[in-house]
Amino acid sequence: MEPLARSRHCLREPIPEIADAARLLDAAVTAHLLGRRDVAEQLIRLANMPLLREYTESLWGAKSPHLQFRAVAGAPAHLDHESRAKERMPTRAEETVLFKRDGYHCRFCGIPVIRKEIRERIRKVYSDALPWGRKNIEQHAAFQLMWAVPDHVLPHSRGGSSDLQNTVIVCQPCNCARMHYTLEELGLADPRLREPARSSWDGLERFH
Ligand SMILES: [Zn+2]
Repeated sequence: MEPLARSRHCLREPIPEIADAARLLDAAVTAHLLGRRDVAEQLIRLANMPLLREYTESLWGAKSPHLQFRAVAGAPAHLDHESRAKERMPTRAEETVLFKRDGYHCRFCGIPVIRKEIRERIRKVYSDALPWGRKNIEQHAAFQLMWAVPDHVLPHSRGGSSDLQNTVIVCQPCNCARMHYTLEELGLADPRLREPARSSWDGLERFH
């Protein structure tokens, strides 16, 4: 197999439409706060772009064309369930620390991300514009793609602990795309060795 480059930050470069969707959602929240619910509703609908769903789906699953890996000598073994760290998800207090440290951008690909709680808050007001069914296809494409999730840098199934040093905030596609592979097996640079991305994007946290 070809040696993989060590410098990549993520498995696939984000497409420009993700930034477009973030701008639409940011403008939607601004419109909402100004009392323009009709405008906010329209902007949330516009952000639900089929291209975003295609992007997310290209990164999900073992058949993803972006999932290239190599065997690495001495790599941590795959652990059975009993041998993995007990706590898998951060507590609410730990999550607060994580977002304070990482901000609202994926630590791998750098795209803007949104917490589930914020999505739920917006959905309470704009349920028609922000569909969220059980199946992937029934979920608003931008909110699905930009969903902020805690991710184990060394995968949980490979012995990764759930402490904050081994956890970073990432987007849903980056989280799922890595599956159970280590950074080295995927040729990914360690996101903890660079500063988190910062911008005026606030994760839509000002929505209320
Ligand atoms: Zn990402």
